[in-house]
Amino acid sequence: MKYDISELFTGKVSSIEIDDYLNVDLKELGIDSFTADKIHIKGSIFKTTVLGLELTYESNWKTECARCLKRVDYHIEGNIKRSIVKKFNDIDDESVLVESDVIDLTDLIVDDIILNLPTQIICSESCKGLCMKCGVNLNEEDCECDIENIDPRLSKLKDLFK
Ligand SMILES: [Zn+2]
Ligand SMILES: [Zn+2]
Repeated sequence: MKYDISELFTGKVSSIEIDDYLNVDLKELGIDSFTADKIHIKGSIFKTTVLGLELTYESNWKTECARCLKRVDYHIEGNIKRSIVKKFNDIDDESVLVESDVIDLTDLIVDDIILNLPTQIICSESCKGLCMKCGVNLNEEDCECDIENIDPRLSKLKDLFK
């Protein structure tokens, strides 16, 4: 997602409005437990006393509940504010380096999304998950399994605490 910002540098325009859609390849990013829809990006790149950008993004993704494996919707959203710097030495957490007349927003947005992804997504706080023995979805049905004795290592542990 590239934008030519040369006219901001020359002062011909004072802002560039952004209303665009970004496609991401989740496999490439190593987060293919998600199914991604296009990400809607809105905002602007502007020049006031400093050069900067302000973006919001949102999309509806899908993933699996970490406990019961059911499909769950996951709403992606966030906002990004950065100043734009032209020299490597000026860069900090609040800024983004642009060494040419073109700014590429893809990494900026993707990094922000990944940083904010929870490590575990569940369909609901009360999700009971799957039976470790027979695999039924315990939210939908009960089973007769004796889970107490499912794992010999666990029962050893239990003995320790007796
Ligand atoms: Zn669940
Ligand atoms: Zn069971």
